[in-house]
Amino acid sequence: MAIASDEIARIVERYPPVPAVGTIGSHSAIDVADGAVAEGLASVVIAQTGRDATYARYFRTLWDAHGARRRGCVDEVWEYPKFADIAAPEAQERLRQRGVLFVPNRAFSSYVPLPAIESDFRVPIVGSRAMLRIEERSERENYYRLLETAGIPSPRPFPGPEAIDRLAIVKLPHARRRLERGFFTAASPEEYRAKSRALLARGTIAADDLAAARIEEYVLGPVFNFNFFFSPLGPRAEGLELLGVDERRESNLDGMVRLPAAQQLELSESDRIPEYTVVGHGTLTVRESILEEVFRIGEQFVDAARARYPPGILGPFCLQTCLDHDGHPTVFDVAARIGGGTNIHLALGHPYGNALYRGPMSTGRRIALEIRRAAAEGRLREIVS
Ligand code: AMP
Repeated sequence: MAIASDEIARIVERYPPVPAVGTIGSHSAIDVADGAVAEGLASVVIAQTGRDATYARYFRTLWDAHGARRRGCVDEVWEYPKFADIAAPEAQERLRQRGVLFVPNRAFSSYVPLPAIESDFRVPIVGSRAMLRIEERSERENYYRLLETAGIPSPRPFPGPEAIDRLAIVKLPHARRRLERGFFTAASPEEYRAKSRALLARGTIAADDLAAARIEEYVLGPVFNFNFFFSPLGPRAEGLELLGVDERRESNLDGMVRLPAAQQLELSESDRIPEYTVVGHGTLTVRESILEEVFRIGEQFVDAARARYPPGILGPFCLQTCLDHDGHPTVFDVAARIGGGTNIHLALGHPYGNALYRGPMSTGRRIALEIRRAAAEGRLREIVS
């Protein structure tokens, strides 16, 4: 059974006046740690043995003889054999004892089983515990319905491959690397059949996943990931902030588009089907006349999320969109937590976030600021779930 919000509230009310900020050591952990120390909070990163050097060595805080930070932003690294070990009762107790407020990222919801997060993880999460589920395939239909109720444009689905009559994208996980994508595009049922056959033979996709895949219209336009923040601490009208926008670098798609057309045509048949493995991010701003619509869908999402998954969005979230030929954003995916691309402005701040706060405001720093404000007003229970 899901942990009652009252129980988390009681836990956070026993926390020290200055809590620490913790997160899983992957995804956006450097941004979160950097933001925490910029706001005067301690950072704790949960690392997995064998993939800990980034945090335990290269970004680790080094102190001088007077106890001042000499370099780095990861104050404490707690190493476990597996990320999922953080849900063990002793590890949870350690987090509570240390006064850690936990910032959920995609690594957390991917490596720690969701039922454990929802029903057993008795550590305050800065964000919406109930919404982490919407990224799961089992919850996808509810998620599409959420966008629909919110009135947010999303790509039109096709009922099956035979209905493909324009460029479509087929969405399914990679057969072996389950956290990666096995997406492909097709503009007709014939192309769907040919490509799926090739990808099945290559072992990129599996037949069961293909049968359950979502097929949707391919929105021809650049990808803009809008990194928002929602604060429940002030009036509703001041709650939504746009901090920044990122785009992704995807392999091997980005490699292909860097080739001249003649060389693209020389790729072997199987190399011509791009994969969408995210390997990095770049920064963007959006034409100002588009911003109002971006804010509108952000507001609609916040309202719909609050009604469907109470208490709804708390803190950072990301709407992943393609901007169509008229500049209208179509939301093809949502992260109801810190987005994967916020490191683009780590320490420097996001352009829009800086404009709002008149100084460097990254997503990590905005999270820490929210914690500091809530702690100062004795309202931590309102920003955690
Ligand atoms: P996702 O796994 O939802 O984050 O999507 C991975 C990538 O697939 C995105 O970064 C886009 O490049 C692409 N993509 C997903 N859905 C669509 C769509 N409906 N139209 C165009 N591109 C899409």
